Amino acid sequence: MKRPGKLVALVLAAVFAAALFTGCSISGEQVKIGLSLGTLKEERWVRDRDKMIALAKEDGAELLVQCANLDASSQISQCDSLISQGIKVLILAPHDAEGAAAIVERAHKAGVKVISYDRLVLNCEPEIYLSFDNVKVGEIQGKYLTEKVPKGNIVFLSGAPTDNNTRLLKQGAAKYIQAKVASGDYRIVMEQGIKDWKAEEAMKLMEQALAASNNDIQGVLAPNDGTAEGCIQALAARGLAGKVPITGQDSELAAARRIIEGTQSMTVFKDTRALAIAAMDAAMKLAKGESLDKEATQKVNNNKIDVPSILLTPIAIDKSNLDKELIESGYLKKEDVYGG
Ligand code: BGC
Repeated sequence: MKRPGKLVALVLAAVFAAALFTGCSISGEQVKIGLSLGTLKEERWVRDRDKMIALAKEDGAELLVQCANLDASSQISQCDSLISQGIKVLILAPHDAEGAAAIVERAHKAGVKVISYDRLVLNCEPEIYLSFDNVKVGEIQGKYLTEKVPKGNIVFLSGAPTDNNTRLLKQGAAKYIQAKVASGDYRIVMEQGIKDWKAEEAMKLMEQALAASNNDIQGVLAPNDGTAEGCIQALAARGLAGKVPITGQDSELAAARRIIEGTQSMTVFKDTRALAIAAMDAAMKLAKGESLDKEATQKVNNNKIDVPSILLTPIAIDKSNLDKELIESGYLKKEDVYGG
């Protein structure tokens, strides 16, 4: 997964310029890879995309990018268009886990290999699934919340019901939360999925929970940073921002700033750079007809097959390790987090 540094890359490029010209192509043509994203609403997807664009350039491949803006049927037609443009491999982050099975089938009919990216496509046979361990992400959130909030009224939110990650995250978080419910320490005042992971939906739900409980809420499980932001707005409107522990996920810049300012308790770091590298490496191998058996050591069932998988490890972030994990690793810039 490691890539050569800039200098090495430059030297390689100079020495093998001629070889590179044809070396990264199949039968003289530049390899075309498609990237279909369900959304670019969260900052992380922009990072995934930008990293893959940069990597494709390094690999001498052409990356064709489409974003479906939360619309399952546009994602199908966009992928049809990518397939008709001659891509060899489709990197697919599905908006709708079930509906996107049609995309995988159409791709396969055209001889195009499919990488299920970050989100699992259900009921079909993608070549590989590349993601983070999403059950673990949920466990990190649940563990954090139950440690910060020993007892009380809890809002337990989850992501878009159309996204398979939502189920996995919830499964992980529920291990901790349900134990607290069983012991009588927690009362869940709201348990709800959030349509399309929308911050405004999360804000509305949080307002409802606050109104119904007369502001008597001690902790919030928010599934990602965007939805945490919506919840925090609702808390702020009642003077409660920073007083109620709340989780997140994605290590967005705005979330890092809220953690420093104290209105969000934690986030989860999933290094999208590493995921993008794994995806472009897998795509280049699939394009060349090579096997991924060595890399894809895990299996995740998608209701049809055990999909060969690579699951990267997520990291819990709060004030105590934000500088080390997010800033020193170069994911966020110090001046962006602390400045202004
Ligand atoms: C991703 C999260 C993201 C969410 C909303 C999930 O599938 O894993 O990182 O915040 O979708 O786009």
